Order: sequence, then C-alpha cells, then structure tokens
Amino acid sequence: MKDQIVIADALHGEVRIHAACTTSLVEEARQHHHCMPTSIAALGRTMTVTAIMASDLKNQNERVQAVLNGKGPIGTVLAQADGAGNVKGFAANPNVYIVREDGHLAVGQGIGTNGTLTVTRDMGLKEPFTGTSALQSGEVGDDFAYYFAISEQVPSVVGVGVLVSQEGSVKASGGLIYQLLPKAGEEAIEYCEKVAKTQKPVSELIDEGKDLDEIIQMYFPDANILARRDVRFHCGCSKEHFMDSLVTLHDNDLKEMIEDGKGAEIVCQYCNTTYNFTVEELKEILERKHCVENR
Ligand code: ZN
Repeated sequence: MKDQIVIADALHGEVRIHAACTTSLVEEARQHHHCMPTSIAALGRTMTVTAIMASDLKNQNERVQAVLNGKGPIGTVLAQADGAGNVKGFAANPNVYIVREDGHLAVGQGIGTNGTLTVTRDMGLKEPFTGTSALQSGEVGDDFAYYFAISEQVPSVVGVGVLVSQEGSVKASGGLIYQLLPKAGEEAIEYCEKVAKTQKPVSELIDEGKDLDEIIQMYFPDANILARRDVRFHCGCSKEHFMDSLVTLHDNDLKEMIEDGKGAEIVCQYCNTTYNFTVEELKEILERKHCVENR
C-alpha cells in the first residue's frame, strides 16, 4: 500500500477520523538516520501523527512540528510535516534498541516520561501557535491523545505503530486517530470508547494487507471518506540553504575555518545528508557576507 492519509467522518458527522499508512516514509527515515528498532519506532510514530495533523492544513507552505523531550535514552524526537505532504524528522539517538518483557519494542522507556510534548502549528501568520503538554507514557499515541485533550480541547483516541522486521527494516507503519467534534453526543462518545478498547494495532492491520478504507470501515461502518492525501519523506534541504546559514556566522568563525584549511562539513539534522564546503567556497561566503552588510 502506498503512503497516504485518508480523512473521514462517521456517526452523523460527530466523529472525525484520520487513517494513515506511513510504511515507506518511515523506512526512508530509518535508512537516512541508520536507526535501530526502538529509535525508529519512536520516530515513526511521531512522524505519523505529525503527518496526520498536517493533512488538515489548508496551504502547502503551512507546517506542523512535534517535539517529544522525555529524557529517555533516545533523547529528543522531532518531526515536521507540511501541507504538501512532505514529512521529515530525527531522533537524537538513533541507536536505541530496548524491548519490553512482552517482546514489544520499549518505545515508552526509550522516549521517557520526564518531560513534554510541544506542538507548533505554523500557519504562515506572524506568530505560530504552540501548545505543550506533559508526556504521559512516552509511547507517543497516549502522549498526543493527552495533548489534543489538554491543549486543543479535542477528545481523541490516537493509535500509532511501527512494525520492525527481524532484519531491522520497517515492515508496516501507520496510525488511526478519531476525534469527537463539539456536537458529539453521549452515544458517539460511548461508541468511540468501545472501539478504543477492541481496536487492533493499525501497523498489524496494514501488515495483513488491509487498506485504509477497510480499516476505517472495520470500526466505523457508516464512515464517509472526505479526502485523501499522499505523504512522503522529503527534506528539501540543499547546499544553497546551508550556505545561507554559514553567512550568518561570525567573521572570526569563518576565518578560523578558512585558516585551518580543511573546509567545513555540515550535516542536515533532518535527513542526515552531508554537505562539504571547500576553503574556496568559505572565502566566497565571507566575501558575500560583506557585500550584504555593506549594502
Ligand atoms: Zn535535509
């Protein structure tokens, strides 16, 4: 199944549903960052929810960013997605591989619970909207559900999962989020609570070959599909982009790099691509900097 997000409503429009398949984009992130299983599960879950949030954006250049900071061995996990379906992210420590007693990847232990989830919605306005909530279990799904309830006042059930194969590659990744709209009545609330208790992990359903429409209809037989959005891993960085950031360095730092004669190496934190700058290029940057300043 190709990576996609399907948006639907159900129960007379009282519940809004997002189902996501993110297998390819999470596998691509794993390859870029050389992630071990628990690190990619944490990053993949975070990228999936972030992609789902971005699927509601009106404009292509609007962005959503989520940062989990739980002081566990994985450290910071960050994901960013835009209104065009481009998703990227990283886990500070990609080398974490810890397993729970039941054999599942210990994502909660990897992320930790001693910290916060911060979501920034950049809608192209002067001030982006930022909301922060305390981490609940570090399992990502619970943490976002709590965030939606506390910070955005939307009662939500958030299921996300990443299945990692024996060899360490991503077998299946996806998510199912359903949210009660303000007009939701008691019946819809009870129905969602019932579904939450019986729901199978979405990554397992994707691995079994179910498509997103089927997954939505398994739990919400009256669902109407409202929209489909393609999503992909895409960073968008370039050498020019990093050149612009070198221009903002202090003269002395640039001069030092030029004098030590080795050039500079910059690694993009979102996609792990390395950009090399020769001494000649650094000299050009220093010159360009002065042209800009003297204008
Ligand atoms: Zn990049």
